[in-house]
Amino acid sequence: MKLENEDALDRLIICPHCHTLHEEIHIADGTKACCVKCGSVLYRYDSRLIDQGLALSLTALIFFAVANIFPVVQIEMLGNEQFITIPRTFLSLIENGFYFVGLFCGVVLFLFPLAIFALYVLLFLLLKLKKGEELSRRLLVWLSYMKPWSMNDIFLISILVALVKLIGYAQIHMGVAFWALVVFVLLDIYMTRYVKLNEIWMLRKQIFMEKQ
Ligand SMILES: [Zn+2]
Repeated sequence: MKLENEDALDRLIICPHCHTLHEEIHIADGTKACCVKCGSVLYRYDSRLIDQGLALSLTALIFFAVANIFPVVQIEMLGNEQFITIPRTFLSLIENGFYFVGLFCGVVLFLFPLAIFALYVLLFLLLKLKKGEELSRRLLVWLSYMKPWSMNDIFLISILVALVKLIGYAQIHMGVAFWALVVFVLLDIYMTRYVKLNEIWMLRKQIFMEKQ
């Protein structure tokens, strides 16, 4: 196929299984485009993804706020009671001179997860209103860079490991933020698994193709 300019590449899509090249066409809402050779799904167009994505992102943001405001665990040791909140963990690291580790934790446990879900909400709102063609493209690019740097799932596992080690020495009470963090991590995993960025990218293309 002769390409007149690089923009023509944007209209081509390669089958992830048999690598056959296809030209992208507009498909009806609720349908999917399949490879002519092997039948694998190339892309879908399901506008319900916008409402589902928006609802999930807003719910995740609420649970994230609860997880950060309230104590994650309460530890009682030798009569001393300590409440641990997520922001407290990386602020303590900074106060104790571990500036790099503290800042890194602040970025991957607070800043990036918050920014990712705020960007998701903005993105789904733009797609719902069928506005901001260029901004929605940029948001998707930023999300693809930021997604790997959200590490609340690793943090949750590390809390569990630390608690298991402390069980013999202290009395541990899970706070409301712990359960909020569990729900947030589950929502984050669900979003990563079922609301894929490439599917939103294709959905965006279909929406703005339809608008023209
Ligand atoms: Zn194929």
